[in-house]
Amino acid sequence: MNDFSLEGKVAIVTGCRTGLGQGVALAFAEAGADIVGVGSTILDETKNLVEKMGRKFVGVQADLKKMDSIPKVIDAAITNFGKIDILVNNAGIIRREDAIDFSEKDWDDVMDINIKIVFFLSQAVAREFIDKKTGGKIINIASMLSFQGGIRVPSYTASKSGVKGITMSMANEWAKYNINVNAIAPGYMATDNTTPLRADKERSTEILARIPANRWGTPEDLGGTAVFLASKASDYVNGFTIAVDGGWLAR
Ligand code: NAD
Repeated sequence: MNDFSLEGKVAIVTGCRTGLGQGVALAFAEAGADIVGVGSTILDETKNLVEKMGRKFVGVQADLKKMDSIPKVIDAAITNFGKIDILVNNAGIIRREDAIDFSEKDWDDVMDINIKIVFFLSQAVAREFIDKKTGGKIINIASMLSFQGGIRVPSYTASKSGVKGITMSMANEWAKYNINVNAIAPGYMATDNTTPLRADKERSTEILARIPANRWGTPEDLGGTAVFLASKASDYVNGFTIAVDGGWLAR
């Protein structure tokens, strides 16, 4: 089972102040990795939890809506650890409005963070992997809306369908450099992202009734799949989006 170990690895995890990103950072730390955490605000809680496990944590405060965040993230990893082994593109936002009233700003903000920066940060990290001839792992956080249409979230659906698509296209071009690009599609998870959905009694009852596991997912539920995709155990897995959804897509 040593193939699942992340001992000595360095992982960049975006959006790990809270929620699923924090869950992934903690699972990686438990598996042995040091973490470069990226967020728009301070990441103290995640830093403390990672350090309690005896791993190192470097926080980078950067706005992932902007392209100039990319060199900051790469520099922080190289300056502090001298290398990158794993990138998790987790940071993401959602805007809810009827499609008929949806604004250009709600389209652009979501697309900038959820798909544009996912591609260009992956490109920057892949260049490192190729230059240093190390290979590496890229994991994108997709969604059920990489497979389905959703309701009142058109830019989110467009971005997450795009994440599934570019996961395949990047995998096709970079597998020959020993770079594995894959994605995880979380189901309905209890985080800040879904607070409004869980507060809406009618929608939350409908959603829960459709989940075979009969519960919302948690950040811890993502850990095992993330560690697998970050580890040697997944060296022959390329371009696939794995659902961690309590059976939602099986219905
Ligand atoms: P969350 O709101 O708790 O976490 C999102 C993280 O992204 C936060 O840490 C936030 O600070 C960071 N972020 C947002 N905008 C940023 C910016 N401009 N610059 C830097 N960081 C920024 O929500 P979550 O549910 O943990 O979401 C994590 C990922 O999982 C997202 O990509 C989301 O779309 C996806 N996802 C969530 C669910 C769910 O049910 N919660 C389901 C499917 C996919």
